[in-house]
Amino acid sequence: MVADRIPDTKAEALALLAAGGGPVVSGGTDLMVKRRRWGGLTPMIPDKAVYVANIAELSYVKKTGGSVEIGAETPLAVLLDHPFTPALLRAAIRETAGPGIRNTATLAGNLVNASPAADPALALHCLSASVRLESARGVRTVALSDFATGPGRTLLLPDELLTAILVPADDAWKTMFVKVGGRKADAIAKVSFAGAVKLDGGVLTAFAAAFGAVGPTILRSFAIEAKVIGLSPADVRERLTDLSAAYADVIRPIDDQRSDAHYRKTVALNLLADFIRSI
Ligand SMILES: Cc1cc2nc3c(=O)[nH]c(=O)nc-3n(C[C@H](O)[C@H](O)[C@H](O)COP(=O)(O)OP(=O)(O)OC[C@H]3O[C@@H](n4cnc5c(N)ncnc54)[C@H](O)[C@@H]3O)c2cc1C
Repeated sequence: MVADRIPDTKAEALALLAAGGGPVVSGGTDLMVKRRRWGGLTPMIPDKAVYVANIAELSYVKKTGGSVEIGAETPLAVLLDHPFTPALLRAAIRETAGPGIRNTATLAGNLVNASPAADPALALHCLSASVRLESARGVRTVALSDFATGPGRTLLLPDELLTAILVPADDAWKTMFVKVGGRKADAIAKVSFAGAVKLDGGVLTAFAAAFGAVGPTILRSFAIEAKVIGLSPADVRERLTDLSAAYADVIRPIDDQRSDAHYRKTVALNLLADFIRSI
């Protein structure tokens, strides 16, 4: 019975997963598309699926120490209006789907779906967020930079539930989010960019640049980012040509039905330049 697969608590969900249940269904907006059938048939969701969207204890936003903690089942629409939502994440959610999808879609689904073109995931990468993964065996925290291992692939194990997203507080950050799509609304990114920089005493104390849809996973280069820490904005702008060349070496997009590799690389580097000039 489906009702048996709609737990009210996290503990019940973990017990179902430990007993071999799955896949997990949150908003279902990715799963319904992935498992769609033609001819008017309903999507093929396995009988043992575990529906977790109703678990109230996994829907919240709170500040904990230096972080914002977001319960994995908080709908994107709630995050769009929440005062604790980091500005960069809010900007990304504003560019995600339309209001109907945002009412049920979650960050958990966006991150586990592991699309390199995902919008909220791009902002969370840029903000150095991490995810809390829980199972009946215990809890672990994984940095987002390690979580996705390829398109649709992550470190999540079959009995694990993504229960929370932890985002370092971003109050002092200056940020930029740009999504380039085929149309203004409801488009998958051809290429996207999220940038964040922190300044103190006239120099950069943090710098993050994340690129979407330019490789098998969202791209960040910690080695290149480290080169600009401690520089003034003017110094960084002076090194723009060198920085662009360094990113050109690591950005390796593909041609597909939405765009081609040359366009993606050119636009990605232009967005980086726009961000650096805005610092
Ligand atoms: C019309 C339309 C437009 C869209 N536009 C955009 C867009 O502009 N930008 C964008 O980034 N995305 C877009 N999407 C994709 C989708 O809406 C988002 O990725 C959304 O955040 C997925 O969340 P969900 O809760 O619906 O995931 P689900 O479909 O429920 O799940 C997705 C995957 O995550 C797993 N999962 C879900 N929750 C958990 C959990 N708590 N623990 C472990 N695994 C879990 C599921 O098993 C599944 O593999 C769009 C989708 C549609 C249908």
